[in-house]
Parts: sequence; C-alpha cells; structure tokens
Amino acid sequence: MAIELVVVLSNSQRSPGSLSPIYRLAAVGGGAAIVLGEAEKVVVTRMTRSRGKAVFLCSCGGRGRAVSLEVRQWLSISTNCFHARALRKAFELLVAHFRKVSVDALLQRYTALDNSRTLATAEKQVFYATKSHKKRSLFAVLCAGTWSSVGIRPRFGKKGTKRRQIMRASCTRLSFIDHWMCKHAKAVNYWCAEARQAAEVAGGVGAPAMVEEADVILADPLGRRRQPVRSPAAQAAAQAETDARF
Ligand SMILES: [Zn+2]
Ligand SMILES: [Zn+2]
Repeated sequence: MAIELVVVLSNSQRSPGSLSPIYRLAAVGGGAAIVLGEAEKVVVTRMTRSRGKAVFLCSCGGRGRAVSLEVRQWLSISTNCFHARALRKAFELLVAHFRKVSVDALLQRYTALDNSRTLATAEKQVFYATKSHKKRSLFAVLCAGTWSSVGIRPRFGKKGTKRRQIMRASCTRLSFIDHWMCKHAKAVNYWCAEARQAAEVAGGVGAPAMVEEADVILADPLGRRRQPVRSPAAQAAAQAETDARF
C-alpha cells in the first residue's frame, strides 16, 4: 500500500507486471482511498479525521461488521479489519519515506490523503481502480463523503426472460439494500455506458471501450441494446441523406 501511495503522491509511473494473481491494489482520488481486490471481492479503505483523531475506515466494516462506518467515524474508532490496519501501517511508512515528523505533518503536505478535508457532496464520483484476476473492473465511488467499492459481476436475467448472463456493477457496501440497484452500482453502470459511448464516438460502432487497461470487462449496456452512437461524419452523412429525400 505504501509503495502504491508513494507512486500516486509523487506522480510517478506504476511498474508494469506488478499485479499479483489474486490480490489487486490501486489508490484512487489522488491517494484519498485504496481499492483492494481479493479474487472477486473488493473493498475500499481510507483515512479520515474525526474530532482531531486519525480514523482508518474500510468498506468491509471490519470484524463483526456490526457497527456502520458512519457510527465508527462518529465515535472516532477505526475498523478492525486488516485492510484498515494495513493502511495505518502504510501511513507510518509514508511518514518515514517523505521524512515527516508525524502523520499530521504528512497530511499537511499531502492533503488528498485526508478525507475529512473533502467536501461531502451528493454528487457521485466514479473512479476506475483496477481489474480482478478475471479481468472484471473494480471501482470506487465517492458519494456524500464516503467511499464504496463496486465490482463488475455476472448477473442472471429475471425469471421468464431469457436467462442470459450479463455483466453488471455490484456494490459491496454493508447496507441491506439491493447491491445491484443502489446508487453506487447505478453510477458505475452509467460510467461504463459513457465509456462505451465515448469509445464508439472516437473509434466507430463496436469499438472496444478502453479504460486504463485494454482487456478490462465493463458493465453491459442497460436494457435493450442502445442505438449505436454514430461518428460525427456518419451523422452528417445520414443527415445529408435525409435532407436529399425532401
Ligand atoms: Zn476491510
Ligand atoms: Zn451501494
């Protein structure tokens, strides 16, 4: 984690081939959060300050999973999972690496690390993090000041319809709402649709959506197959054809 944060904080390049076969790790939001993939599971861990105290939170909720992240933050207690513990350790290593006297001094220099400085807005920000070993994309979504981890997973169609497997965003946040339909999963599905559209505008119909990694699997388009997006040239040609008819 410390190495990944050093890479992000000092704007250097990630070394290729650093991916482990099972574990995946990527800092997002300029170091504001770390996404960890473990096989097809994904969590996001981050640091914030609550009443002046550094608190390390993780979307897995830690052991017991009983206390919500909001309550933990309010009580100024970190989660007790190993993801958050690893992040705490990484911060200690960063203090040494950047030759700072304390975590506070580190946070003053690298403000992105401290989530209590981020304004909590209802706007949903989607960050592509990395891919799982099955090449499915893993995301972090920032909304209302808290981070959620979202992975792309296969989902089977409803009964009665053709039971076709589609790839869809699935939220791993610890609340008991539908993890396929919550606002975080929807935001990622939307992000994927936008990425596809952008790819088709740039590269023509059927062009693969390129995120940071070429072979990454995104969420499938929603509902019936959407109208393919035509390039500006094709649009102009279609318009000319329509005009010629009248
Ligand atoms: Zn955790
Ligand atoms: Zn969610």
